[in-house]
Amino acid sequence: MKLAIVGFGQAGGKVLDEFIAFDERTRGSVVRGALAVNTAKADLQGLEHVPADRRVLIGQTRVKGHGVGGDNELGAEIAEEDVGEIQRAVDDVPTHEIDAFLVVAGLGGGTGSGGAPVLAKQLKRVYSEPVYGLGILPGSDEGGLYTLNAARSFQTFVREADNVMVFDNDGWRHGGESLKGGYDAINEELVRRLNVLFSAGEVDRGDAVAESVVDASEIINTLGNGGVSSIGYAVDHVDRGDSGLLSRFSKKKLPDADATNRITSLVRKATLGRLTLPCEVQGVERALIVVAGPPEYLDRKGIERGRTWLEEQTGSMEVRGGDFPMPDEDSVACAVLLSGVTDVPRVKQLQAVAVEAMENLDDLRERSDANLDALLDAGDEELPPLF
Ligand code: GDP
Repeated sequence: MKLAIVGFGQAGGKVLDEFIAFDERTRGSVVRGALAVNTAKADLQGLEHVPADRRVLIGQTRVKGHGVGGDNELGAEIAEEDVGEIQRAVDDVPTHEIDAFLVVAGLGGGTGSGGAPVLAKQLKRVYSEPVYGLGILPGSDEGGLYTLNAARSFQTFVREADNVMVFDNDGWRHGGESLKGGYDAINEELVRRLNVLFSAGEVDRGDAVAESVVDASEIINTLGNGGVSSIGYAVDHVDRGDSGLLSRFSKKKLPDADATNRITSLVRKATLGRLTLPCEVQGVERALIVVAGPPEYLDRKGIERGRTWLEEQTGSMEVRGGDFPMPDEDSVACAVLLSGVTDVPRVKQLQAVAVEAMENLDDLRERSDANLDALLDAGDEELPPLF
């Protein structure tokens, strides 16, 4: 499946950067169009893989390239004002070659949090291709303002996009690393998952033919229109000996008695392990399993069994599955897309903390107005204002 990816704000830009780097490393072709949008010039300059002419600085008259300082209302206002400028940059994307748009943003900040829903709305208005969101939730230790920003942006993003895939930073912070190093590792994990998923639609890569093909329309049908998704992932190293070279030239199956079990166990591990957004699997509306790896390990029966198992777990009749041959790999990876998730404790908690933060902010504002009045109170005498 080919995507035009817009990275909005700092986190969005960095994830887009990693998407491009990943494609370069794996000779993949998921990213057909790329655009990084920001109000902060320094963040755009910090990107390493997004070409210079695919970086758009917005809001220059308002914030002069310095960013919006975590104010997502200002982020949304600027995106609305400069939506024409963003649109002109999107116009350069060969939209006839893409299957969907993906708008990526950290929802706890200002620029991406405010701008991503505005852009999703614009793209939906102009194009017939689906518009998906990738929303990154802030860690719960980041404080009330981030939580409030994320809760408000999340609601609007879900309303405007065809589906929002969610990644919760909360469960992914690697201990003991610098924040930057930590984010780099997190972004790589996130992009690897999405890549297995979206590569699946690319059936004509090299000489390998998928046994049970997943095409772009199946990913699109699984994402549906409207809703929230979470993604699971598991990987298993395989010892190929010198069969790797051989399998590049022949599609002949090598004997592997465990191939079926390996795949069913990967499907379970991916579903029950760490999801990008922890959620209750029972009740998920639709799901898609993609298994990627050397062709001789992609066992159709294993995928079928995994599918049946996931149908039982979710209670959904809409579980799709397929494979994606990667002849050069020495591992089998499985990505599971859970679409239409509804039982998500983290989102409930986010909303509750956000409401509390909003009340606290109102309180603080009132108190600070009262304190200022008290400070300036000159007693019984009225001082005349200067002008
Ligand atoms: P913006 O530039 O104003 O849109 O703000 P940011 O993109 O910096 O958004 C801030 C939020 O995004 C923070 O709450 C972090 O949780 C998250 N964040 C920032 N950078 C990264 C990153 O590289 N990766 C991930 N996963 N999250 C990030």
